Order: sequence, then C-alpha cells, then structure tokens
Amino acid sequence: MENERSANDSIKEAIKKKIKEKLKEELLEEIYEELKLEEIDLTSEDKSLTKTLHSIKPEIKKTKKEVVGTKMEENIEREVFISVKAILKVASHALKYANSKVPKEKWVEVIGLLAGKIDNKGILHIEDVFPMGHGTSVYAEIKDYKNYVRAFKDIKKQKYFICGWYHSHPSYSCFMSKEDMGTQTRYQTLWEKAVALVIDPYQIDGTSAGFEIYRANLKTQEWFPLVYGIKGALDIRMLPEILEFMRPIIDGKPAYLEYDED
Ligand SMILES: [Zn+2]
Repeated sequence: MENERSANDSIKEAIKKKIKEKLKEELLEEIYEELKLEEIDLTSEDKSLTKTLHSIKPEIKKTKKEVVGTKMEENIEREVFISVKAILKVASHALKYANSKVPKEKWVEVIGLLAGKIDNKGILHIEDVFPMGHGTSVYAEIKDYKNYVRAFKDIKKQKYFICGWYHSHPSYSCFMSKEDMGTQTRYQTLWEKAVALVIDPYQIDGTSAGFEIYRANLKTQEWFPLVYGIKGALDIRMLPEILEFMRPIIDGKPAYLEYDED
C-alpha cells in the first residue's frame, strides 16, 4: 500500500516535471504566437502599424551613434546579427526602385518584414526578410492586409517570427523619422526587442552596407542604432558588384544569355 502510494507520487512528480518542461519549451513560442495574433488584430484595426510616412524635414531625435558592426573586429559585442541572405534581399528590394537606371526623382521607398529568431543568449538573429511593397519617394506601407497574413504564415513555416520591419530611404540617409518612430513604437509595444532596419541604397558604395538597425526607447521616444554583425562572410566592398550582377534577376530576366539564346 505504502509502496503503491510512493509509486503514484513519483509518477505524479514525473508528470509534473514533464508538464513543466513542456511549458518551459513552449512558453516563448506561445508568447510569440500571442504577439503575432495581437499584431494581426492590431493591423486589421490600425493600418498605421505597417505604414511609414516621412515629413520633408523629419524631426530627428538621435542619441549615441554606435560603431556599426560591419568591421572585422571580433571583440565588438554585437547586439543583433543579420544573414547575408537578408542583406541581399533588403538591398536588392531597395535598389529595384532606386537605382542608377531610374531617374532619381522617380526613386521610391520600399517596405518589408524582418523574420528571425532569438538564440539562447537572447540575441536576435535576422535570418530572412519579406518584401511587402513600395510607395512614393517619402512613403511606403504594407497595403494589403491579406499579404501581411500570407507573409506571417510563410515566416511561421520557416520557424521564424516577425522580429521587426524594414524600409528604405532612397538617397536621404539612415535615421528614424517621427513617423518611423510611430511605427516602431507599435512594433516594440508588441515585442520589446523588435527592430527597424533602414536602408539607403544610395549608400551602398563599397564602403558601407548602406543600412542601420534601430531600436527605440519608448519612454523617451529616442532611437539608437544597434551594433550589428553579419552572419557569414560578406565583404561589403563586393556588395555593389553582387547587386549589379543580381539586377537582371531582380527584374525577372536571366542574369546572362548564351549567344544562341537571344
Ligand atoms: Zn523612414
């Protein structure tokens, strides 16, 4: 009888332990899921989550400028990592609508979602990006709510979550405008580590990757660039050449033809 009771107790303990472990395992995932659902709800009510609009002279509230982690120094502590794939997608998306073959007055902004994961040290890894749309020279938004849901599902399929958003500032440098801060505030309200990537394709010149990754202090409404690291070996000196090579592909054309193919 006594043995039976202690056996029962140990089974109970084992089940308890199992449940605890399971909960622990699923907790983060569940929280992210909740956030994503909330985000979708919010988007359906409040389109401004995915919208960015720039004043001609944006009010810049800028704090300390960090050294951007495109340098080779190993001892710089990175706050966020970004994959080469993500960089090439953001850069090629921005360049599709703002490049030397398009008159500068016709350059427009692009916008998209950042997909990533958190490692066991709590560091964010931006693994992929999802181009969502383009707008005017100072304005871009995710127009179709259905596309937002489609992207959300694709991101989930890859076992990533929406960890922020990106948009371009064709030729007017990287910063967070007042309107960008509004959008970022909504992302960070949903998930405090959400980031905003801003790219100026004009700055991809072989000396700069042309983008910054920002986070904001919601209390003071100040924004600051994060020190980022690039996952894998990407020499930014090669970036213009790589993107130039990719350009026909971006436009849906073959990168090159054999002589008898034209
Ligand atoms: Zn902006």
